[in-house]
Amino acid sequence: MGHFLNAEQHRILQAMDIPVWVARGAEENSADPDQNIPDQNIDTLWDRLEREVAGCTRCQLHQTRTQTVFGVGNQTAQWMILGEAPGADEDRQGEPFVGRAGLLLNEMLRAVGLARSDVYIANILKCRPPGNRDPGAGEVAACADYLTRQIELIRPRLILAVGRIAAQNLLDEDQPVGKLRGIVHEFGSAKIPVVVTYHPAYLLRSPAQKRKAWSDLCLARRVADS
Ligand code: SF4
Repeated sequence: MGHFLNAEQHRILQAMDIPVWVARGAEENSADPDQNIPDQNIDTLWDRLEREVAGCTRCQLHQTRTQTVFGVGNQTAQWMILGEAPGADEDRQGEPFVGRAGLLLNEMLRAVGLARSDVYIANILKCRPPGNRDPGAGEVAACADYLTRQIELIRPRLILAVGRIAAQNLLDEDQPVGKLRGIVHEFGSAKIPVVVTYHPAYLLRSPAQKRKAWSDLCLARRVADS
């Protein structure tokens, strides 16, 4: 079961002097869907979170970003789509999953009866790593509580983790996607179901894997509907 921030990441954050946001009095980030936030407070919490991210300087990536990429979509979505980090297009446009990979993601969602506007899309990191390198452990740790707070506000029925970086960091795993897919994982104390699939950018390079991605989406559909 993933808790997003593991002990090593907590250690890194402490070393970087970064406070860890703790969900509503919990000892760990709970993302508990049973804890209802009054409606009038939700907009305020979203606004505050988005402003915090826009001005964030917690890690070095703030120095090279064009803008932060907060997340986009339906804030009451049943499905949350989680990717890795902004690429060049995302950094330029301020929205996750744009460009060719974004179009393929839209197609994948449409295949299971969802429009892009039905889901909420976010990344592990809100700023682009230069040259699209993998996110560093310190960067993931620094950015983690923004995502945890998004998950807690949305309270999705399902998280679809697309690609290795998203899946490994969310689930605190080091296995490749091929080993993590096909299983229903859980996130946080609320045990939000997590299904792992390939990143659409990878599917563009390896179209033979689309069949497996389709099977992952069908699994996600069953889980979200159950
Ligand atoms: Fe802040 Fe996250 Fe951007 Fe780092 S990647 S500067 S932690 S918003």
